[in-house]
Amino acid sequence: MRYGCHLSIKNGYLQAAKTAKKLNIQAFQYFPKNPRSLSIKTFDVHDAAECASFCKAHNIVSVAHAAYPTNLTVHDPKQQLTMMQSIWNELTIAEACGSLGLVLHFGKFSGEDTLQTYRNSLQCIHAICSQWNGKAKLLIENDAGGTSGFGSTFEESVTIRNLSQHQDKIGFCLDTCHLFSSGVWDGNNHATWDKASKKDVWETYKNHVHVVHVNDSMYPSGSGKDRHANVGKGHIGLDSLQSFLTHFNPLVVPFILETPYSKTGEKEQELHTLSQLIQRSQ
Ligand SMILES: [Zn+2]
Repeated sequence: MRYGCHLSIKNGYLQAAKTAKKLNIQAFQYFPKNPRSLSIKTFDVHDAAECASFCKAHNIVSVAHAAYPTNLTVHDPKQQLTMMQSIWNELTIAEACGSLGLVLHFGKFSGEDTLQTYRNSLQCIHAICSQWNGKAKLLIENDAGGTSGFGSTFEESVTIRNLSQHQDKIGFCLDTCHLFSSGVWDGNNHATWDKASKKDVWETYKNHVHVVHVNDSMYPSGSGKDRHANVGKGHIGLDSLQSFLTHFNPLVVPFILETPYSKTGEKEQELHTLSQLIQRSQ
């Protein structure tokens, strides 16, 4: 089963992969560069290559996560270029590390016009993909909702992918906390997207999910708040997470925790909880 958690690269990419091995997990996520900045990183190519071969040898999959200020919806051409350069840099690192892809959010659109949000995002994605020939995919993550949370619904993500000329380079990353806080999922049942009218969209979406972020939520469904809680310690709860995970096969799609830890040993404990959850869900 491929499950794991987010790991630090403070001692390099290879070291992160070795930590995954030590934790006995077969999947991990990492920030390829400083997560708080869009600045370009000159990375250690040798270290990245070693990470790639270590992961291959030990059957570990890795996923990169884009920097927080990344925003695909920006309108200003200068800002768009800064975004694109940052994403190309991250994709290049992800590729060198042998990662599946780069997880990224649409980002908050500051305007009112939803159509403009679509246009800007498409333009940005198109520009990135036209000059990207690597295997690492762009993995668009569902949004937690809130004030201008574009991309919280399956429809929005699927539409963006459908309208793109580079569909083979685009996949999705589904975050359970975001799905819950956006109100798309209330934790009890999946009726909202199992309805006949929406079933096709859900099926299309599901087929292109390459990573699942397994997070509980500190706030109730519909709150629009992106605050992750440890699994079973939030408003979603273990039973709902378990029934949700039945939609995905962890042999194919890695399940990754993005949850907070305050004490040593908590990470190992939560990974154990996740592995039990997965076993019960399959
Ligand atoms: Zn996430």
